[in-house]
Amino acid sequence: MRVLITGGAGFVGSHLAEALLERGDEVFVLDNLSTGSMDNIQHLKSHPRFHYTIDSVTNEPLLAEMIDRADTVVHLAAAVGVKLIVEAPVHTIETNVHGTEVVLRHANKKKKLVLIASTSEVYGKSTDVPFGEDADLVLGPTTKHRWAYACSKMIDEFLALAYWKERKLPVIIVRLFNTVGPRQTGQYGMVIPNFVRQALAGQPITVFGDGTQSRSFTYVGDVVRAMVALIDEPRAVGQVFNIGNRGEISINALAARIKELTGSSSDIVLVPYDQAYESGFEDMPRRVPDISKISSLVGYAPTVQLDEILTRVIEFFRQQ
Ligand code: UDP
Repeated sequence: MRVLITGGAGFVGSHLAEALLERGDEVFVLDNLSTGSMDNIQHLKSHPRFHYTIDSVTNEPLLAEMIDRADTVVHLAAAVGVKLIVEAPVHTIETNVHGTEVVLRHANKKKKLVLIASTSEVYGKSTDVPFGEDADLVLGPTTKHRWAYACSKMIDEFLALAYWKERKLPVIIVRLFNTVGPRQTGQYGMVIPNFVRQALAGQPITVFGDGTQSRSFTYVGDVVRAMVALIDEPRAVGQVFNIGNRGEISINALAARIKELTGSSSDIVLVPYDQAYESGFEDMPRRVPDISKISSLVGYAPTVQLDEILTRVIEFFRQQ
């Protein structure tokens, strides 16, 4: 299979490229390196079935040609990371809405299968955990920029499902829950790379809010395996799937565990949300996936649990 990965030089994209190459596929990456990095794909560049182009999905003639060459498109190119989203809301909305729009439009011409990466952020402030795919999505007001990310991804989901319903373009939507692993950067706010970097540097580990909020972290290798399984499953078309891991940990406990595993002498400090992000920032107390849908369709089960994930991330940062 020939697979085009938009955002293929990003954290998730580079792991997906690896997984596809390993099973014999030909991989074409399109990435403008806005949050992705050549470092992520350096080790793949000499692979005979790996090709990359540094450009934006908004270069439509190029995008159209690359889609023509592929059998399947995995659309990962997006503005991600709460910090980036809060700091650059215009960029976030434009990138996430327009990028998906052009990918779907061009894929539709040749009816190429498109897997769209959405996010668990769409569940917003819902407290109805675990979150099932058909649950209500509960967002805050438009004056709080954080919700622009969820909203832009919801538009992507609506548009993809509309293409399926109205034009029979085969699409699959995946909602990723806090995906972590080697090569993820803390630059855009993600908590695990941030804490590990702080712990290894002996700097204060910055827990935002009171640290009682929790997250469920999924190893990137499990996430890309789930994506590949869905691409291979014709019954997945036209549907939305959570990809996550049910294991839940508070951010306080996460900070303590990282401190312990790194043997760090860093202090754990609480930073109010308005200082960490912006005044009036809203966080969600819990975010736990219901993964029964993907489990029953393709037999997905996460294989790497938190301690092992942390060990691998710590090892990655130590090597840097
Ligand atoms: N967080 C934190 N310290 C950091 C970065 C993040 O305490 O340096 C918190 C953040 O406020 C959130 C959780 O960790 O409650 C997960 O944040 P992340 O940005 O990784 O993902 P989110 O789940 O918010 O999309």
